[in-house]
Amino acid sequence: MTSLSLQKYRGRFAPSPTGPLHFGSLIAAVGSYLQAKSQGGEWLVRIEDLDTPRNVFGAADDILRMLEAFGFEWDGELIYQSERNEIYRAALETLTAQGATFRCACSRKEIADSSMIGIEGPVYPGKCRGGVMPGRKAHAIRVRVGESKIEFTDLVQQSIAQNLATEIGDFVLRRADDIIAYQLAVVVDDAAQGITEIIRGADLLASTPRQIFLQRLLGYPIPRFGHLPVATNRAGEKLSKQTLAQAVDTKHSTGLLFDALTFLGQSPPAELQQPSQKPLWDWALGHWSLAKVPAVRTIPINDNPPTVG
Ligand code: GLU
Repeated sequence: MTSLSLQKYRGRFAPSPTGPLHFGSLIAAVGSYLQAKSQGGEWLVRIEDLDTPRNVFGAADDILRMLEAFGFEWDGELIYQSERNEIYRAALETLTAQGATFRCACSRKEIADSSMIGIEGPVYPGKCRGGVMPGRKAHAIRVRVGESKIEFTDLVQQSIAQNLATEIGDFVLRRADDIIAYQLAVVVDDAAQGITEIIRGADLLASTPRQIFLQRLLGYPIPRFGHLPVATNRAGEKLSKQTLAQAVDTKHSTGLLFDALTFLGQSPPAELQQPSQKPLWDWALGHWSLAKVPAVRTIPINDNPPTVG
């Protein structure tokens, strides 16, 4: 296996097309882009449209058009997860051949009755781990986490440790609706695209140990991870479609980029908050420092994402 440190830097931005780009997703795009480009690396874009019931028609194109309007330039081919089902299923087969997975017939209610509560709700109680009871129909596929404790040093959030057995439990790789779970698809794609470093929002920090666990099982290289603070509204909710975050207005792209850089602790000079994007991007590429990004998980901003500029 090639050592990651010898490979060319490759980062990525992986939006889900559940709505247009909002200030929260702009932050992840700006942070991952500058971290890649300031080191002469590549920045790839992947559309995570696997969770088809959540896809919004036209949102992937809107996101790409908005990225272009902000001046982002991606490298290589765009990939769409919805076109890669076979590849994910092959990885699932590999894990199954290792004896790492099991079929599960448990209902939501049976899982909700678990006596153990983890960081994302009830921890799977293990009912089907030894086989599905006769007469019951398996619908999901889970991976056995065993006693795994995962530790890593995040480039922004520092030392992270998670005990998968007590905090997460055996997690789903193929959902009951036959859709491959995000956790598996993301590790397959990051490996296939040769991603060396993942810069994304801290809302995904709790998922990273599951991804490292799967990367180990599948024999993939482990990328470096850096989790940026997430913008929340004043109620402390992440900006998202569910919290009705507004789409970023590309007419104010320079002002919004300026605000995203400020949010990421970069202190751009006030005179760059002008109509033209180029001087601000030039400044950002020359001055980007991940070390200046605040090592916190969330930062509240005004209810309305900034649009001045
Ligand atoms: N598709 C995920 C999202 O939009 C991001 C996944 C990732 O960066 O790993 O929240």
